[in-house]
Amino acid sequence: MNTVGYIHSFESLGAVDGPGLRFIVFMQGCPLRCLYCHNPDSWERENARYKMTVSEVYEKIAEYKNFITNGGVTISGGEPLLQAKFCEELIELLNKNKIKTAIDTSGIIGLDKSKRAIQLCDLVILDIKDIDDEGAKKLTGAGIKNAQKTLEFTRDIQKRVWIRQVILEGYTLDEQKLIRLGRYLSDFDNIERIELIPYHTMGVKKWEEIGVDYSLKEVKPPDENKMEKAREILKRFERIKEKVR
Ligand code: SF4
Repeated sequence: MNTVGYIHSFESLGAVDGPGLRFIVFMQGCPLRCLYCHNPDSWERENARYKMTVSEVYEKIAEYKNFITNGGVTISGGEPLLQAKFCEELIELLNKNKIKTAIDTSGIIGLDKSKRAIQLCDLVILDIKDIDDEGAKKLTGAGIKNAQKTLEFTRDIQKRVWIRQVILEGYTLDEQKLIRLGRYLSDFDNIERIELIPYHTMGVKKWEEIGVDYSLKEVKPPDENKMEKAREILKRFERIKEKVR
């Protein structure tokens, strides 16, 4: 377990990235450049605060083992599957120690690299950035095809999945896109939950700190009314309506 991981940070007891209380490992490095990214300091792998082996990370997690028995560990990012080998080994070690695992990913990494980590973990939290390929490119710099292939693979192996989408005015807050998203997700019987997350501006300061212009300055976060309308659109689809949050 000597593979070294480039790590941005840790959160010892997170309550939103997967079921129950969780230890979160935020990996460093991401090939995407989402316009709303709240962790732009996680983009460049070489800027990692920590370089640690799988065993060292496990030791850190083990200190919290008693607190996460109803939850587990989520490997997030950046994009965790950019370091697929590290993820595989960490998940293997956690599996051996009966600690549940989740991978929080954009699905951008090809299955040739990401497959095994996905097979090993208990849950995939998949961010569908935008259901349209062109929209996704505008929002993140890359299309949505790899995320779709990732989701199809999870269905083939019947892996539990939570879907996430950030709702952003002028981008994903769009009735026609939400209808297409609802229709698309209805075909996946392995999806347990679909979370719509309101865009927020908490990362803006970090963009200033790294000296990159923040292009969404004029965009306001959607209010609860708009969020509810977005959820209602997805709930029109019988197969997913109970899963929408
Ligand atoms: S995938 Fe996540 S870490 Fe990467 S740019 Fe998008 S929001 Fe930021």
